[in-house]
Amino acid sequence: MADKILLKTNNLYIEYKSDKGILGGKKTIHAVNGVSLDICKGEILAIAGESGCGKSTLAKALIQLEPAKSGKIFFGDKDVFSLTKTGMKEFRKNVQMVFQNPYASLNPKMKIVDILKEPLEINTDLTQEKILEIVKEKIKLVGLDENCLELYPHEFSGGQRQRIAIARALVLNPEFILADEPVSALDVSIQAQVINLIKELNEKYKITFLLITHDMSVIKYLADRVAVMYLGEIVESGKTADIFSTPLHPYTKALLSSVPQLNKAVKKIVLKGDLPSPADLPEGCKFHTRCPYVMDKCKTCIPQEKGGSHKVKCFLYN
Ligand code: SF4
Repeated sequence: MADKILLKTNNLYIEYKSDKGILGGKKTIHAVNGVSLDICKGEILAIAGESGCGKSTLAKALIQLEPAKSGKIFFGDKDVFSLTKTGMKEFRKNVQMVFQNPYASLNPKMKIVDILKEPLEINTDLTQEKILEIVKEKIKLVGLDENCLELYPHEFSGGQRQRIAIARALVLNPEFILADEPVSALDVSIQAQVINLIKELNEKYKITFLLITHDMSVIKYLADRVAVMYLGEIVESGKTADIFSTPLHPYTKALLSSVPQLNKAVKKIVLKGDLPSPADLPEGCKFHTRCPYVMDKCKTCIPQEKGGSHKVKCFLYN
């Protein structure tokens, strides 16, 4: 794994207004709260956390589908928020996304060939002949036959559709792909096809991936590094091997203990209660309402991030 930083966030905050509740009035949802992350060229970084922790909002902000309230995003040495129109066009070519649901992310009225041609027609001046050549190359790269180009999405299985979605992400030769729960909508029996394809694209073609998932076994197999997110904050980050062998944060331990075969040494931790609403964030450590090790100071003071390559935000280590 190279250590040149490809994408970086600095103290990123994202918030939005909720719909009106039954009592009226809109609430502010604090979806991402001060996230600073480095994603190195050629690595797979996974963001782990339960539904509602802010990981998908973060992903959307990284590709400019969600505006940030404050903070910075850099792609290479470029400040993404200050890109010119031409710079943004280049950024969009270089940064692609694979969505969770391949049933919804492919237009059912378009043939596969047209789905794959579309990004090239919008973003390049290539001839139709060259575009078709690229489309054929990418469909083969994801393990499908070029005969499938004349078919429609409904004629494929979920795993095949997700491979087509990956081919669409590849046609512009991106350096970086953001994969948001890429296998969670697929049958377990076909998840491995897509997981292995991501691994191959990373190892053979050096494509950098940000993998958003709640599935710790997918992370263990695929990711070089992991960042664990809770209520919009990164609470622990480090190399995958270190996180799985020596988890530090009580929330990481709870996530790992929910899949006992991943780390038999981690004692089973059953969290109390549900994830608090991001519209009503707890004071102090945001995990204190569910933490089995909570101390008085956790309820009022915010722990700072500590550590080198393995970082944690918890008073047990301050
Ligand atoms: Fe638990 Fe306190 Fe650590 Fe937060 S700071 S995770 S409440 S021990």
